[in-house]
Formats: sequence, structure tokens, C-alpha cells
Amino acid sequence: MKLFAATVMLFSLLASAPSKTNGQTNQAGATARNGAVSQVSKTISITRNSAPPPQMREAENFTGLVGVEFLQEATAPSHLAAGRVTFAPGARTAWHSHPLGQTLIVTTGAGWVQQEGGEKQEIKVGDVVWTPPGVKHWHGATATDRMTHIALTEQQSDGKRVDWMEKVSDAQYSAPIQAQAATLLLGSAAPNAVSNQQPRPSQRAIGDFSPKLAQLTDDVLYADVWERPQLGKRDRSLVTVAALIAMNRPDQLRSHFARARDNGVTQEELIETITHMAFYAGWPSAITAIGIAKEVFEKK
Ligand code: MN
Repeated sequence: MKLFAATVMLFSLLASAPSKTNGQTNQAGATARNGAVSQVSKTISITRNSAPPPQMREAENFTGLVGVEFLQEATAPSHLAAGRVTFAPGARTAWHSHPLGQTLIVTTGAGWVQQEGGEKQEIKVGDVVWTPPGVKHWHGATATDRMTHIALTEQQSDGKRVDWMEKVSDAQYSAPIQAQAATLLLGSAAPNAVSNQQPRPSQRAIGDFSPKLAQLTDDVLYADVWERPQLGKRDRSLVTVAALIAMNRPDQLRSHFARARDNGVTQEELIETITHMAFYAGWPSAITAIGIAKEVFEKK
């Protein structure tokens, strides 16, 4: 069976390769063989980054404010459509599935994704989410952060690429998040309820030596203050990094540069923050900070 498939594929590759005569592509031959395909444009087309940000509005099959931009309709023979969706904090899709699956690439902020029967998982800048065909799910921003993702969705020959279902209720939306996303491949056996056993970061680092300080750090600073919805995590990271630069605290900066990146601040933005801070916190503090940043970023 495999051999047969490989043979057919090889044959079709050979058949679609343009035959060359006198070093020139034989266009007529290609057209004769492949009438429909020859109508397809052979010119690269670039859709320039649209200047104005998308208008945020309420939309059918979504809760909250979203900005929807169609980047590319499926152009035969391709079945792939591309769009970019920006979700305001709290905004999300309705429950839905895709007959041919969907790939999401998070480009800004932080969001949540959940499949039916699974726990909600956090997704951040650079994460790629594959949802297999027919898997019921939703995606959107977190309650405190805006999130933009690019959606790549193959459509059927009848043009259908999504089956919309009921809205995601507030209770479903605010359900607890899965402790640590082991995999973002929806549909694979999601190891739910596995990782709550792990010691929390400060507990692990200083718990034996100073249990109270570890508990305050984990429970008050990170589990309470950092989680408060009044300020997004990305903003909290920028404020924290700025304060640590100003106070010249390289030890804390080291972990907060990494945390800031996890919270959606780019490397370029952090370097710019340090340059900016040179004027407010002083040259020596900025130079110390840039050394730490270089160490963190080059280690990845
Ligand atoms: Mn989807």
C-alpha cells in the first residue's frame, strides 16, 4: 500500500515537472497536461502589513471584542485560508470544530485554549496550537491579556472550514487553568491533573532554609499579586524589570528577564527598556542590566 502511494506520488511529481526543451520551460506542454492549474497566477503576491490596527467589535460566534482580519482566502488548488484574530481581554470564540483541523500561531499576548473534556491551557507568543479535525474546542485571550493569533485553516471543497456551536459560558471561561501545559497538541492524550504535585519555585529554591519567605513569595507575590486582573502580566513584567534595573539588582533581573519573555515582552523590547532606563536610572545600572540581558538571551 505504502509502495503504491509512493509510486503514485513520484509519478505525479514527474508528471507535473515542466519538461525542458532547449533550456526553456515548455509552458504549452504544462498547460495541456494541467488545464485548471495553469490558470493559477505564477506571481508572488504580497499583502502589506495593514497600517491601522483591526477595529475591535462584537462578532457572531465570539464573546467580547475581537478584531478579525482575513489575510488570505483559499486560492485553488490550495485549500488553506489564513486569518488573524485579536481578542480583547476576556474575549473568546464560541465552541467549534474544524472539519480539516486548524493551526494557530500566537503572535502577541497570552491566551487560553481548551478542548471539550480537557483543561484550559495557556498559550503565549510563539506557541503553535494544532487542533485535529472534528475536535470541539475554543480559543481566546486570557481574562487580563489581549491575544493575537494567526489561524491557518484548510477548507473543504464546499468552502466549509468551521462548525460553530454554543458560546463559551463565563463559568467555562474562568475555570482553572491546567498547571503546566505538557503538550499543545489538542486531541492527543492530554495528561490532565498530573503536575500539581511539583513544588512551587521558591519552595524548591529556599523552602528548606526559609519556609516563611518561600511561602510569601509563592502564595502572596506570585499566586496573588501577579495574578490580579487589574494589570496584565506583560505590563507587570515591564514594571518589575524597570524597577530592578533602577535598583541595580542583577540577581532578580536574571529571572525576571526570562519571565518577561514568557509573558510576551520581546527581547527587542527589553533591550529598548534598558536603553530607555539609562536616562532615568543611570548609565551604570543600564550597563549592568544589559550584561545580564545578554547572558539570559544568548542562553535562550
Ligand atoms: Mn479553532
